Amino acid sequence: TYSKLPGTSNSIFSVMSQLAAEHNAINLSQGFPDYDCDPKLIEFVADAMKNGHNQYAPMAGIQSLRELVADKVNLQYGSNYHPDSEVTITAGGTQAIFTALTACIQAGDEVIIFEPAYDCYAPTIKMLGGLVKSYEMAPPDYTIDWEMVKKLFTASTKMIILNSPHNPTGTVLSAKDINALIKLTKGTDVLIMSDEVYEHLVYDGVKHNSLASYPELRDRTFIAASFGKLLHTTGWKAGYCIAPEQLMKEFRKIHQFNVFSVNTPMQVGIANYLKDPAVYLGLADFFQEKRDFFRSLLEQTKFKLLPCKGSYFQCVSYGHFSDEEDTVLAKRLITDFGVASIPVSAFYIRNTDHQVLRFCFAKRQDTLEKSVERLMKL
Ligand code: GLN
Repeated sequence: TYSKLPGTSNSIFSVMSQLAAEHNAINLSQGFPDYDCDPKLIEFVADAMKNGHNQYAPMAGIQSLRELVADKVNLQYGSNYHPDSEVTITAGGTQAIFTALTACIQAGDEVIIFEPAYDCYAPTIKMLGGLVKSYEMAPPDYTIDWEMVKKLFTASTKMIILNSPHNPTGTVLSAKDINALIKLTKGTDVLIMSDEVYEHLVYDGVKHNSLASYPELRDRTFIAASFGKLLHTTGWKAGYCIAPEQLMKEFRKIHQFNVFSVNTPMQVGIANYLKDPAVYLGLADFFQEKRDFFRSLLEQTKFKLLPCKGSYFQCVSYGHFSDEEDTVLAKRLITDFGVASIPVSAFYIRNTDHQVLRFCFAKRQDTLEKSVERLMKL
């Protein structure tokens, strides 16, 4: 067989979005806003095109955007990333993750992931000949017992993939979690991929602990981030990776032969737009209002709300009123009620159904209202 991923089909996000479209359902499945970005940002991109920024960008990304990213990260997290050698602009967060993994993982390497896990991690590891070692988190709190994580470590452990704020559960790693991670990896060569694409989306005064702010982890860590989440432009597929020079060197070897460079006018437009940090500083408040509103509406349904401290996803459980599998209920919500969600079992490799659904609340108020009106009929 020539298949690198036998048994893998279209991602749950594509499947549910397509099903939502077929049934004309409100799409709270795949995570993306249903409102437009700031028109000023679009003007900046259009200006970049009109001003002739239409040829290849430098392989690692345009200088002004890399500088801006380094300044932003260093200011926010007290780090010291260098824009020339430690920042690369990518075609979104997923590409940053894929490229980092491809740069480091060899056949037989073990990679620790935390499930429910974002769906690109495990297939990428497998495709590279690596072995997935899973730590399974469970509702309602999806906490991590680091003593149990320790048991997953072997001489072949190459990497550990973290994701905070977490998709789909909305948990946020605490300083205590990260200190446990520091202790666990100290004196080893274990690398870390830290997926922080929801870095700005944290609520109730909870702080996002970026791994960028821990000098002890700096030399072993790749961080993936997303302009799509920062600017409400998921369709632009732009993001970046930061990593220490020696890891970034390896990252760029792969990047240059895969995407080579990310589209120029978006980079120029984003760089000019982000010169004013005010454009993103209110992001947590903006989404907290949506979260609070959505949660208050959902209180009126039969669902039980799980905690949500970050990301733009709200999970609910329903085991107290139904024994349906989550994939079955998610489909029925689309066909019979006109609302699309994501069954959280899709984020586990083993058959693990805690009867939890994920809804995306990066939506207009009227969209959230209309969807909950429909869910009330359940
Ligand atoms: N990150 C998005 C989500 O979790 C999906 C992105 C994608 O479909 N590739 O919904």
